[in-house]
Amino acid sequence: MTAADGLPPLREVLAAHGLDPKKALGQNFLLDLNLTGRIARQAAPLDPGVVVEVGPGPGGLTRALLSEGAQHVVAIEKDRRCLPALEAIAQHYPGRLSVIEGDALTIDLASLANGQQLQVVANLPYNVGTQLLLDWITTPLWPPVWSALTLMFQKEVAQRIVAAPDSDHYGRLGVLAGWRTEAHILFEVSPQAFTPPPKVTSAIVQLRPRPAPIQVPLEALEKVTAAAFGQRRKMLRQSLKSLGGEALLARAEIDPQRRAETLSVEEFCRLASLI
Ligand code: SAM
Repeated sequence: MTAADGLPPLREVLAAHGLDPKKALGQNFLLDLNLTGRIARQAAPLDPGVVVEVGPGPGGLTRALLSEGAQHVVAIEKDRRCLPALEAIAQHYPGRLSVIEGDALTIDLASLANGQQLQVVANLPYNVGTQLLLDWITTPLWPPVWSALTLMFQKEVAQRIVAAPDSDHYGRLGVLAGWRTEAHILFEVSPQAFTPPPKVTSAIVQLRPRPAPIQVPLEALEKVTAAAFGQRRKMLRQSLKSLGGEALLARAEIDPQRRAETLSVEEFCRLASLI
């Protein structure tokens, strides 16, 4: 039996290539092509430029991206056991899928763009997902090479990415994402959608670059957020003591009795520009 795209069902692909999921590689596969199709459609339009997928695994999302119209998918996969399954997809869609065997953490997105528009769509391995996102949103070059990131995370991480001030999830990740991007949760995905099911619910987040984020040195912003959220229950005059404490807060016109989670992204940028 074949799936709607003319390729074998993903369960057969797993069995044929002996792809028993490895926890160390964050392998929770999506085998439902309706769901991967839904994710791919959220990233539309897929046809101009390059779509980068990190961790294609057996290729469920890769197939959806191609059947939904992506003309060129570049898929980066660390587990070489997945390569034969991906090769079968590449043959089914001639000239439209390039597979890079490697660690996505070491690959610069700019090297994949080839002067074209680029977006990333991925069901990220949970163990490196946050680091990849941080690398992409803190790139020195802005606007970045990517026009959108459509990414699956554990729901709790997704909530931290899109968090606004005065919420429990607001922290360093929310400030950095809010500084440079507009980020939204598109929909949640239950554990049962994955093989094997993870312990927690997941969510798809979409981030688009802000054309003109406040200009501030990244290092300074990282320092301020790390200090402020490192002691998030303390007043800022205490948590920011090593960076100038009350004097710094006075220059930034911020009440020293406030706590980190009440500061807007703009206020964090103001502090960062003063240290
Ligand atoms: N996209 C597939 C799906 O939705 O079924 C698989 C997603 S699975 C959550 C994560 C995938 O990322 C696995 O195939 C894993 O081997 C791969 N992976 C893990 N670490 C990686 C890394 N550092 N670079 C590239 N791929 C990685």
